[in-house]
Amino acid sequence: MIPYGKQHITDEDIAAVIETLKSPFLTSGPKVAEFETAFAQYIGCKYAVAVANGTAALHISCMALGVNSTSKVITTPITFSASANCVRYCGGEVVFADINPETVLLDIEKVRNLLEQHPKGTFDGIIPVDFGGYPVDLEGFRKLADEYGLWILEDACHAPGGSFIDNLGKNHRCGDSSLADLAIFSFHPVKHIATGEGGMVTTNDEELYRKLKQYRSHGMVYQGDPALIENHGGWYMELQELGYNYRMPDVLCNLGISQLKRADEGLEKRQAIAKRYDEVFAGTNVKIIIPPANVSHAYHLYVIQIEDRKGLYDYLRTKQIFAQVHYIPVHLMPYYKGLGNKAGDFPNAENYYEHCLSIPMYPTLTAEEQEFVISEILGFVR
Ligand SMILES: *Cc1c(COP(=O)(O)O)cnc(C)c1O
Repeated sequence: MIPYGKQHITDEDIAAVIETLKSPFLTSGPKVAEFETAFAQYIGCKYAVAVANGTAALHISCMALGVNSTSKVITTPITFSASANCVRYCGGEVVFADINPETVLLDIEKVRNLLEQHPKGTFDGIIPVDFGGYPVDLEGFRKLADEYGLWILEDACHAPGGSFIDNLGKNHRCGDSSLADLAIFSFHPVKHIATGEGGMVTTNDEELYRKLKQYRSHGMVYQGDPALIENHGGWYMELQELGYNYRMPDVLCNLGISQLKRADEGLEKRQAIAKRYDEVFAGTNVKIIIPPANVSHAYHLYVIQIEDRKGLYDYLRTKQIFAQVHYIPVHLMPYYKGLGNKAGDFPNAENYYEHCLSIPMYPTLTAEEQEFVISEILGFVR
């Protein structure tokens, strides 16, 4: 059986988990800060906050950015629904804008039109997504956001290790928060770094960092924090705001530390697999996404677009190849339809959805497996 994506767990990963299981710490312990420091260094940002999963990362990010029942936040319909749901957790309104069909990313021109059609101050922020691992043009989005006083929360779940070079020749790693206010990652098993459940928020903003740490653990302020209002002794801690229990356990943080050591290796494997797909599908009726030279794609997904998507999906399953569809447009989910969205609102996203298929892409995919996948796809479409 060949899935579209899967985790890679080595003996070293297993040893790291066992080591932490034998330590005094099952949940918060020294591995949390160690993982945060290593991750911040890998991504190239100042601060990182480990949380229970990517969805929790999105939720406390929205809280730290001040999303509330008066907020309107723009995002893409082609993403995992959590990129939109986080705004709803805080009572805000999600406003979708269509994708660019060439990149499948949130279309900056569509966002610009939306902003121009409303009085300034209508919108609070943008949640762009590095869909599939393709880094979104944060240089362009930053300029636009600054014009309208908006914050940017980058959903970089698909793109650890991805990067792009801006117009001044400066390299920006996905999630480094050099252009976004905050960025988030997930360590779900299909993602680059897999811990089962787990997530991370990254930022360069000290004030946001402080809030994130507080919201991750109930909203509590602990001993040693100068923000304590009172202090009755060593036991004393203070609930200053309403937060959640979104902590990532030490055991999983140590698994993350071990996985992170292989991040570059895994990324190179993904890029090599993509290069082979690019070669064989060029000039066929399998449509592929080729990023420009200034973009280094992280290839969480390898998406093809074909005429008879359902036919190919069903055919590949008979060959034990489990391709997947990413994503059903979020605005077409019954929950978001119930909030006023409807079919026809975002034609580029809807058209993309009719034809897209994510084919196997993960570091341990062998050359033989990949050639088998390629020959079955080409055999079907010809
Ligand atoms: C996986 C994912 C999430 C959510 O992450 P979880 O860890 O599963 O909560 C959010 N956004 C995108 C784009 C994702 O792919």
